[in-house]
Amino acid sequence: MFSSFIIKYAEIGVKGKNRYVFEDALVNQIKYSLMGSGTTYKVSKTPGRIFVDFEGEFDFDDVIERFKHVFGISGICPMVRVDNKAPEELYKDVIEYFDKVYPDKKKTFKVKARRANKGYPMDSMELNAEIGGQLLDAFPELTVDVHNPEIELVVEVRDKIYIYSETIPGPGGMPVGTNGKAMLLLSGGIDSPVAGYMISKRGVKIDAVYFHAPPYTSERAKQKVVDLARYVSKYSGPINLHVINFTDIQLYIYEKCPHEELTIIMRRYMMKIAEMIAEESECQGLITGESIGQVASQTTHSLLVTNEVCKLPVFRPLIGFDKEDIVAISKKIDTYETSIQPYEDCCTIFVAKHPVTKPNLNIIKKHEENLSEKIDEMVKEALDTREVLLIKRDN
Ligand code: ATP
Ligand code: MG
Repeated sequence: MFSSFIIKYAEIGVKGKNRYVFEDALVNQIKYSLMGSGTTYKVSKTPGRIFVDFEGEFDFDDVIERFKHVFGISGICPMVRVDNKAPEELYKDVIEYFDKVYPDKKKTFKVKARRANKGYPMDSMELNAEIGGQLLDAFPELTVDVHNPEIELVVEVRDKIYIYSETIPGPGGMPVGTNGKAMLLLSGGIDSPVAGYMISKRGVKIDAVYFHAPPYTSERAKQKVVDLARYVSKYSGPINLHVINFTDIQLYIYEKCPHEELTIIMRRYMMKIAEMIAEESECQGLITGESIGQVASQTTHSLLVTNEVCKLPVFRPLIGFDKEDIVAISKKIDTYETSIQPYEDCCTIFVAKHPVTKPNLNIIKKHEENLSEKIDEMVKEALDTREVLLIKRDN
């Protein structure tokens, strides 16, 4: 029965010129969310809200699910759209709407009519009174409550007439595309996809980099990362996923540096390479899934040493989160089941029995000098031979 939706968004920070940036980004993301849905629809803007009108059949639940992935949406109102028609005809439609949406009539309600089309024979006040009366006649169990009704039934007269009363909560946040771009270090774990989701929720577009170590990490481990990127891209929009072959660099570090410092030195090279890609991709920051104390490479001492290689800010949205909180979000965004698939990770393969938990920056830098002969060349080679995959919600 529903054919249209009003998309509501929070008005905070949506003033003046920002309004256009915000609304255009929201419209783009709405269209992206409907990619591959097989629907025909039209998106239009009126001040303060966005309409999506569908033509023909569509799957209501699927459409709602898609809209729930669009950051910036605060509420989704399913509407019935009817032709602009005489009041007596309209009453029938309103009564039918009410009957279908509210099988239980023991409710309080009020009518809120809005006449945007001034040519209509009745004004908003008259419509309120008349539609209210018609509903009371049709369903005597109803009672009117103008201050705190259980149901607020809106009848909006435009070129067409829209009837609605329900609001489904949206995901909140800001539309992607309103807040620059950042480079996500995406592994196959639980944390980094959640980190990407959280930064994207603030309106930041994301690209991603994955460090792959064949043959130590398999094609399936890589496929897992591609799958995770796809889940994130349902929210974030398309992601360029840079797959870096990290094997030679890891082996070289393994050969030249103390094994207990391997992870931290490797992490420094990951950050360095990610930053190079970030700069060429015009990103303003990096994103990681790090959280204080989770593992040896995420103590405050380790974070200090890892962070030292970067000029760009590093966004670490999970920094103060407990694992169970991160897991809860990963379940919500559907990445959990993929993240826990047991494929090897490049960090775990060369991992020392007793990695340093309080690395000393000067000592680490000293040991990195052992790499000076070949490392620049290897980094360049890794960048030159990378594979870039465009990940979208439906590919
Ligand atoms: P995650 O669950 O995100 O893998 P983790 O708890 O396993 O995190 P680490 O392996 O120490 O933690 O990695 C810390 C962060 O470094 C990750 O959240 C991710 O952002 C990045 N990272 C780790 N391994 C890789 C990789 N192979 N490719 C890209 N980024 C990585
Ligand atoms: Mg990991």
